[in-house]
Amino acid sequence: MQVFLPQEIGFCFGVKRALKLVLNEIKRNGKIYTLGDLIHNSQVVEDLKRKGIESIENLSQIKKGTLVIRSHGVDLSLIEEAKKREIRVLNATCPHVVEVQNIVKSLSQKSYLVVIVGSNTHPEVKGLMASVKNGKVYVVKNEGEAEKLPSVRKMGIVAQTTESLDNFSNIVKNLIRKGKECRAFNTICRIIRERQEGILKLAEKTQAVIVIGGYNSSNTRQLVKLCRSSGAKTYFIEKEKDLDIEELKGIKRIALTGGTSTPRETIEKIKNKLSLVN
Ligand code: SF4
Repeated sequence: MQVFLPQEIGFCFGVKRALKLVLNEIKRNGKIYTLGDLIHNSQVVEDLKRKGIESIENLSQIKKGTLVIRSHGVDLSLIEEAKKREIRVLNATCPHVVEVQNIVKSLSQKSYLVVIVGSNTHPEVKGLMASVKNGKVYVVKNEGEAEKLPSVRKMGIVAQTTESLDNFSNIVKNLIRKGKECRAFNTICRIIRERQEGILKLAEKTQAVIVIGGYNSSNTRQLVKLCRSSGAKTYFIEKEKDLDIEELKGIKRIALTGGTSTPRETIEKIKNKLSLVN
């Protein structure tokens, strides 16, 4: 089997940075907590657990120690609350997410109705919503939801960093009719865009695609959705042991990719295994 990899695989800049900050923190004394799993990858989370790093769901679960804010970011008032309670805060919010939070904050301060294209249950989007200090914020997933938004004088639109460019631009086209002044910021992360473009190119010259990453990882799921909607035969697995070689029999050319929380080594191991298949 011939196996193709895109140029970019492995952890993105934001994930690498968050992991580095947490691993450095281990050198200090004291318990370390992450608010939610640090990254959407069960193997990495298990490894962190073995190193004594505990994932909690809310602030009330801890009294002291270090609280790590993961790369998705959070509502800034939560950081304030933790500091008030004398909990040490290590903010690993990805700088690109901070940039989007600042855009949202500035739009709301200038009285724009803020529209976020993404999923309202995703922690990054929750953090963005909390950055709106004045006025209203809407979260829309698709054109149908965008259609239902009210017409306003000033509207500012941003995207969750993992959104697909096609969905974002279709929604923007739709919303442009709803605001007298309509400002759209393409806040999709460059790394996400490149991964999406990279795998679509490889899908054209192969018979199937395997997307590797956490089942709960938003950017991995976007890759799967994109590959499937391009018509590519797409398999979605989390780790090497999910690989079903029998299912892939007859495939001569296959492409692999992974989400931004998928370690490079996992993808390379799978590549090596598939390269041995006749
Ligand atoms: S995908 Fe982009 S925005 Fe998200 S953590 Fe990685 S670098 Fe940051």
